[in-house]
Amino acid sequence: MSGTLYLVATPIGNLEDMTFRAIRILKEVDIIAAEDTRQTRKLLTHYEIANRCVSYHEHNKRASGPELIRLLEEGQSIALVSDAGTPAISDPGYELVVAAIEADITVVPVPGANAAISTLITSGLSTERFAFIGFLPRDKKKRKQELEKTSGFTGTVLFYESPHRIVETLTHMLVVWGNRAICLGRELTKRHEEIWRGTITEALLKFEQTPPLGEFVIAVEGFNGDAQAEDPTGQWWSELSIEEHYNHYLSNGADRKQALKQVADDRGVNKKQIYAELHVE
Ligand code: SAM
Repeated sequence: MSGTLYLVATPIGNLEDMTFRAIRILKEVDIIAAEDTRQTRKLLTHYEIANRCVSYHEHNKRASGPELIRLLEEGQSIALVSDAGTPAISDPGYELVVAAIEADITVVPVPGANAAISTLITSGLSTERFAFIGFLPRDKKKRKQELEKTSGFTGTVLFYESPHRIVETLTHMLVVWGNRAICLGRELTKRHEEIWRGTITEALLKFEQTPPLGEFVIAVEGFNGDAQAEDPTGQWWSELSIEEHYNHYLSNGADRKQALKQVADDRGVNKKQIYAELHVE
């Protein structure tokens, strides 16, 4: 008889977010397949789980996946864990689940922490309907296409993003969607947990003052056709002073000349006017 594949959620920060069942399953299975065995060892040590741990990650999944399926077919039970949160959600696991289903192996969820859902439920944005996008493509064109695809979606849209790219991503969102209400779930369940609510432009201004640090989930209000439709040209800068608008481009890597030109282009006015307004030397 085949073994069972358990998909075991682990904490996204706070170790207390481990469920009793997750601990029991991790103790009972024959093998734990982990994204990063060193990282998972820390968790296992904390819960005094001394179990065989093998690696299953993005770069070895083609070799490791079939081997895990073979072990399951032999009757071994396996728990799949990722570095943090729910396996198969922007983490390795999906392909293993598909292969297990094809091999007629029972797949059992052991639910727990997830960063996207934790942000959604605290966001104050609609939970009635939502879409999970995960990480946007890095390629600018594909990123824009992905945002365009969801531009008319009326539910909340959820993204994962690294602190290095969050300003660029929010800027892209402004350009494609206009200014929308957002919630940023930062360092959830950790010491510096922050649930920040505001608009995209407010978030960009905030990051000009305090650069983004830590792990982020972005929850964005869906298309509502009213306030956003009043700003169909993506005039995200309309709430900013000329100086704030100019500083926005500077902090995104433009030099003074480029920033001045960009502000003038956005506002459809002459560069000289912007120059005079800013008293740029
Ligand atoms: N499987 C995980 C889950 O269930 O949430 C997500 C893994 S994905 C590789 C990692 C991304 O999730 C991070 O870049 C960040 O966007 C988000 N994330 C993970 N932990 C977080 C936390 N404690 N606070 C905020 N975001 C977090």
